[in-house]
Amino acid sequence: MSEPGYDLAVVGGGLAGLVGALRAAELGARVALFETGAEHKYAANSRFTGGVFHVAFQDILAPPEVLEEAILAATGGFADPALARALAQDAGRAVAWLAEQGADYGVGGPLPFMGHMLKPFSLREPGFARHWPERGADRLLAELERRLLARGGRFFRATRARRLNMVSGRCRGLEVEHADGSRRAVEASAVLLADGGFQGDRERVRQHLSPRPESLCTRGAGTGVGDGLAMAEAVGAKTLHLDRFYGHVQCAEALTDERFWPYPILDIVASAAIVVDARGQRFTDEGLGGVALANAIAALEDPLSAFVIMDEPLWNRAGKEFLLPPNPYIERLGVAVHRAPSLALLAEGLGMPAATLSKTVDDYNAALVTSRGACLRPPRSGQGSTLARAPAMITTQPFMAIRLCAGITYTMGGIAIDAHGRVLDRHEAAIPGLFAAGSTTAGLEGGPNSGYVGGLAKALVFGLRAAERAVEESARRG
Ligand SMILES: Cc1cc2nc3c(=O)[nH]c(=O)nc-3n(C[C@H](O)[C@H](O)[C@H](O)COP(=O)(O)OP(=O)(O)OC[C@H]3O[C@@H](n4cnc5c(N)ncnc54)[C@H](O)[C@@H]3O)c2cc1C
Repeated sequence: MSEPGYDLAVVGGGLAGLVGALRAAELGARVALFETGAEHKYAANSRFTGGVFHVAFQDILAPPEVLEEAILAATGGFADPALARALAQDAGRAVAWLAEQGADYGVGGPLPFMGHMLKPFSLREPGFARHWPERGADRLLAELERRLLARGGRFFRATRARRLNMVSGRCRGLEVEHADGSRRAVEASAVLLADGGFQGDRERVRQHLSPRPESLCTRGAGTGVGDGLAMAEAVGAKTLHLDRFYGHVQCAEALTDERFWPYPILDIVASAAIVVDARGQRFTDEGLGGVALANAIAALEDPLSAFVIMDEPLWNRAGKEFLLPPNPYIERLGVAVHRAPSLALLAEGLGMPAATLSKTVDDYNAALVTSRGACLRPPRSGQGSTLARAPAMITTQPFMAIRLCAGITYTMGGIAIDAHGRVLDRHEAAIPGLFAAGSTTAGLEGGPNSGYVGGLAKALVFGLRAAERAVEESARRG
């Protein structure tokens, strides 16, 4: 069965998809949005989000040149310059447009990057697994859907996009699947893929990010299962940088106990201390911050073998910083926090070679005294991200350890796009009629430092840009 055509068919009802759909409808397009989730409040990262609109941890209203530089700095120059410029230039107008559509922002904290956080705030009380209902992001998604319908758009739940339909090299719609397994074709002049990434696809995660996906904590909805990537690849799209994800360092208990999902995070503690593997050796530069650390932990042969090693003063300082600090919350709720009067006894309790752990800590302390962290192997840098702290000596008993887990929120790589959200083929030419936005896309984040620029800003700006370009092209073709 087929149905009348649309100007734009959108895959995914997260922020990128809803923004794209609503903007296109606002510009007069006939729009349909397809969402796999069947529930009224279907799961999406955009619903569970902390809700801070920032660009590379800068105030989103900072001048575009400041934002552009921050994106390039955060990613060590890895970000595609055209995408970085587009994000930087449009971030201000995009948050203003979203406010006109009902987004309610407040100042979420003392740091400048927290100036645009969705209200009511989501992060303010314990009971984290229920941190999102009726909070800012949950309300915003409902409001965007309401406005889309009011503008004549269609919103189909329990409908999963499965395949793109191409005619003479141009995307002319898609095939969708209903919960009962039946399929139907949908004609559309353009399709926008906004399905949220591939973090929910274990096989792809195994291939690109971790030998043991089952040992990573799903620090989000997990509803991005790589459908957009697979559909785009099938029609010749280029894919990029699949080897990094946005996530945080969590305690190992977060894997099985939802009281630790998706907060608190141990990024600040781990970045001020050292992280070792089962042999008691450092394996990554902790100074790059929690996102890079989470990626390095995930890549270990056994991602649940990593421990943060610190002392009590460090735990009492870094452990109490930022929103929802882990100290004392996680220990009160039963997370195993190991303490011992010496490093040798700590190692014994963790089942690690005592001599190796002692040497690792001694080498680290010595490097801090002489400011030669760069000479360590792996090197130890300073504060490589906003949520990282300067390295602190580990000298005071009791010595402490907490078993860690990598929390994966969304994948940073995916479908290659240009600055208008047009999907690129393997020769870097735009595939006519095919667009992508949000966490399903690549080019802005990742690289050796696992550079993170902000998932909400990325989804918002490119959802907007893709819709505007799709409508413009449609008007040009008459
Ligand atoms: C706990 C948490 C805190 C966060 N905090 C912040 C923050 O403070 N600041 C920030 O910038 N970012 C934050 N993020 C990240 C940010 O929320 C995401 O990057 C952003 O919301 C992604 O939006 P999206 O539309 O690309 O994807 P999503 O919101 O994941 O939406 C994708 C949608 O597509 C649907 N879908 C998937 N496959 C199909 C298919 N085949 N057919 C139809 N539908 C499909 C999914 O069900 C889902 O609803 C946070 C995320 C989490 C989980």
